[in-house]
Amino acid sequence: MKPSAFEYECPTDLNAVLGFLGEGTDTRILAGGQSLVPMMNYRLVAPERLIDINRVHGLDYVREEDGQIAIGALARHGDIKASALIITHLPIMAEAYGWIAHAAVRNRGTLCGNLCHADPASEMPALMQVLGATMVVSKSAGSRHVPASEFFLGTYETVVGADEMLTEVRIPIPEAGTGWAFQEVAMRKGDYAWCTVAATLRVTEGRITAPRIAVAGLADHAYRLEAQEAELDGAAPGADVFQTVAHAAAEAADPPDTEQISADYRRDLLRTLLPRVLRAAVGRAGH
Ligand SMILES: Cc1cc2nc3c(=O)[nH]c(=O)nc-3n(C[C@H](O)[C@H](O)[C@H](O)COP(=O)(O)OP(=O)(O)OC[C@H]3O[C@@H](n4cnc5c(N)ncnc54)[C@H](O)[C@@H]3O)c2cc1C
Repeated sequence: MKPSAFEYECPTDLNAVLGFLGEGTDTRILAGGQSLVPMMNYRLVAPERLIDINRVHGLDYVREEDGQIAIGALARHGDIKASALIITHLPIMAEAYGWIAHAAVRNRGTLCGNLCHADPASEMPALMQVLGATMVVSKSAGSRHVPASEFFLGTYETVVGADEMLTEVRIPIPEAGTGWAFQEVAMRKGDYAWCTVAATLRVTEGRITAPRIAVAGLADHAYRLEAQEAELDGAAPGADVFQTVAHAAAEAADPPDTEQISADYRRDLLRTLLPRVLRAAVGRAGH
């Protein structure tokens, strides 16, 4: 398949990108092209114009700023995965990247493109919510800061407007002693997840504090398990409480029934993975 005809712009500075986006035609940003190009080839989308951002200078950074890790719009998955800052401060992200696509795709694909594509089974939207990331969404008139928990609206849908671009993701560096874990089940390693579970927490005087849990593959976008977080907050860690919250989360989930995998099986995956993730996170929190 070939895409339908489109205009192509390849600006070299961010202001020009934002200027093009503000012109009002049916425009899409081309970042790594790992999701957009297949969708265009299958004619699932047919934008009138592509704005290729690959030659824009200074957007491919991963850097530490004011207690946060800032990741620019052109930082590729592979570079983020290998970044010493990520390995040191956000090891949950480095671990999750082991599950995302394959080296060739990770060499081109970008974190910001991944988040804007907003596949319901994608791992990074769940991780951004667990880590309390902030999205910097920009247009010619200025930028706004959107918490990850408010960024994803549905399948392939985010709050980024037609005249806007996700220019940066900011992730707070977790406090020392924060435990973390990430697990998923997919048909093959590198495929989108049937069920992904990610969590961070701390253990203070034998009690769980600040638990954050997010899941993907179970709804039209990744979401936090806020009711289960509330139940875990202040609880003594143990198999019983982990099983209780996992059963409650599975009961509350309303996953899709697809030809490949049933809703019941996805619920079973959540029931199985969540206790494992919590046990591993508690272990890493030094308990
Ligand atoms: C074989 C294969 C396996 C894969 N497996 C997985 C997987 O297991 N998990 C997973 O999460 N992903 C997977 N992916 C997708 C991969 O992670 C993509 O890189 C990612 O989804 C899109 O990033 P991109 O930079 O290629 O974006 P593009 O394809 O260039 O763009 C995707 C969408 O985002 C928009 N966009 C891009 N950048 C911006 C921006 N800065 N601001 C606003 N809009 C923007 C584009 O206009 C487009 O609509 C897979 C892809 C392939 C081909």
